[in-house]
Amino acid sequence: MRLTDAHCHLQDARFGAQLPAALARCRELGLTRWMVNATRESDWENVAALAKTHPGLRCSFGLHPWWQAQRSANWLAALEECLTRYPEAGIGETGLDRWMEGFDMEDQTAVLLEHLKLSRQLNRAITLHCLRAWPELAACVKRCPPSKRGFLLHSFSGPQTMLAQWVDLGAYFSFSPAFLHPKKAAIRKLFKHIPAERLLVESDAPDMAPPRELAVALLEQTEERLLNHPGNVVLCLNALAADRGLAPETLALQLEQNYERLFGD
Ligand SMILES: [Zn+2]
Repeated sequence: MRLTDAHCHLQDARFGAQLPAALARCRELGLTRWMVNATRESDWENVAALAKTHPGLRCSFGLHPWWQAQRSANWLAALEECLTRYPEAGIGETGLDRWMEGFDMEDQTAVLLEHLKLSRQLNRAITLHCLRAWPELAACVKRCPPSKRGFLLHSFSGPQTMLAQWVDLGAYFSFSPAFLHPKKAAIRKLFKHIPAERLLVESDAPDMAPPRELAVALLEQTEERLLNHPGNVVLCLNALAADRGLAPETLALQLEQNYERLFGD
């Protein structure tokens, strides 16, 4: 079985020296590819360097709403230059967030629209983050349609009433380990309605950890807060497969095809 983590942040310092061993253990579990999303200008080079060091890692460059206030005046030219230098790279993580403290929707929208334009212009798939701003996000995607390849709504938790609209717009949806918490049961249920050819799995590691009792033992856990890692996408695969009455191996084949259709292989 082969599996891809469609969205993670392996550049995060919390992995520290544990990363190589963690990736080796992931490979034993069948996990061979990782889409590593940068979140701010200062980590673009770190993500690129990591992808050069570890086989199977792929980069995605962008500005996450939590970090975009600290961007440079030259960020857009720098992003375009970075994407040109790495033709395999995706765009993101970027998006809209009404959950964060002191959000500036106008500024977030302006930054998102530039990412969407680049996605179209360079024909790269874009990864979108969204918390409590789903109608605004749909308006941006309609106003400035991204690449025809499609786009990823990562850790999708949007209202079911908008699901058909997102499918029509070309969205893919990824399920993360945090959705295995009992309090997120409604999201897990929502994923049953997503067409199989638009499904992906992600870790969003090191955040979005699964319930502690389910987590795959793979890292040394030194902090009180459980550190998520890409090995936990196996839990996502197993849950989605169980909910659809499929063998995990069967669903994994579909997910791999979906990933390649969206991001290229
Ligand atoms: Zn993320």
